[in-house]
Amino acid sequence: MSEFLPFAQPDRRLAGTGLAVSRLAWGMWRLVDEGLGARETAKLVHAALDAGITLLDTADIYGFDGSGGFGGAEDLLGEVLAAEPGLRARMVLATKGGIRPPLPYDQSGAYLAGAIDASLRRLRCERIDLWQVHRPDILTHPQELARTIDDACAAGKIGAIGVSNFTPPQIDALARFLGRPLGATQPEISALRLDAFTNGELDQAMAMGLAVLAWSPLGGGRLLSPRTAREVAVADALDAVAREQGVPRAVAAMSWLMAHPAGIVPIVGSQRAGRIAEAARALEVRWTRRDWYAVYVSARGEPLP
Ligand code: NAP
Repeated sequence: MSEFLPFAQPDRRLAGTGLAVSRLAWGMWRLVDEGLGARETAKLVHAALDAGITLLDTADIYGFDGSGGFGGAEDLLGEVLAAEPGLRARMVLATKGGIRPPLPYDQSGAYLAGAIDASLRRLRCERIDLWQVHRPDILTHPQELARTIDDACAAGKIGAIGVSNFTPPQIDALARFLGRPLGATQPEISALRLDAFTNGELDQAMAMGLAVLAWSPLGGGRLLSPRTAREVAVADALDAVAREQGVPRAVAAMSWLMAHPAGIVPIVGSQRAGRIAEAARALEVRWTRRDWYAVYVSARGEPLP
C-alpha cells in the first residue's frame, strides 16, 4: 500500500525529430509581462538548460497584451539566440500559432503558412522543433490544417507537430489527415484542473504515444496562494508529501503530475531563475497511490465511488 508509484518514462523521443523531451519544460507566456529584456531572458534560458529543462515553450501570441505586442516573446528569445547561437542546439524549441487577434482564430492555409514563417523570422532560426496549433479553429477543416502543417514539415521548417487545447475527437480528425504522426498535445492540467484525467485526453495521448505538456501546472500560481476551501484542501494534501520529502509545495505539485503514467511534462511558468532551477527537484519526489489519490480526491471535492 505504501509502495512508490513507478517513475514515468524519463525521456521521450519527439515523433519526427528523434529529439528527447525533458521531463519538465519551461514556458515563456509571462516573459513579456515581467518586462524582461534580452539579458534577463538569457539568464532564465540558462537557468532552465542548466537544470536539465531543455524543452522551451513559447507562442507567437505571447506578448500580445504587453509591451512586446504580437510576437513579443518570440522576438525576445530570438534576440537571445542571436546573441548566443550555441544555445539553440541545447534546447528543444517549441512554439505555437493559429491565434489571430482579434478574430480570434485563423488556421486557414493562407494565414497559417505565413504565421509559421513569421515565427521562424522572429526566433531567428531555420527550424522549430515542435510547432503546435495553439487552439482549435472551428472554421478550418482539419484536412486544410494538416496540409499546411505537412508542407511546413516537408520544407524543413517544423520538426514535430503538436496541438494544444484540442478535444480527443479534434486530435483524431487532424491525425487522420496528417501525413506524419502527431508528436505532442498540450492541455491545461494541474491539481486544480483535473479534466484531462477523465475526459479521454490522457488516455488518447497514451494510446497514440503523444508527449503530454501540461500548461499552468500550478493553476497559474493559485496553488501557492489558495483561497477557496477546495484550493486549501489541495494545498494541504500536497504539503503532506512536500514536508515529508523536503521539497516546496510547487515542486510537489509538479511531481504529482509527473507520477501519471502518461509521463506528463509540466511546463514551469515561473520567470524567476531560482524557481526554474528548483522545479527540477520534482524528479526527486516519489508518490504512493494513497498520497496521489489524496490530492486527487481533495481536488474533486468528493470521494471516488
Ligand atoms: P503556473 O506554474 O501554473 O503558474 C505560474 C505562476 O505561478 C507565475 O505567476 C509564478 O510567478 C507563480 N509561481 C510559480 N512558482 C511559485 C512559487 N513557488 N511561489 C509563488 N508563486 C509561484 O504556469 P503558467 O505560467 O500559468 O503556465 C506555464 C506555461 O504554460 C506558460 O509559460 C506557457 O508556456 C504555457 N501555457 C499554455 C497555454 C495554452 O493555451 N497552450 C495557456 C497558458 C499557459 P513567478 O514568475 O513570480 O515565479
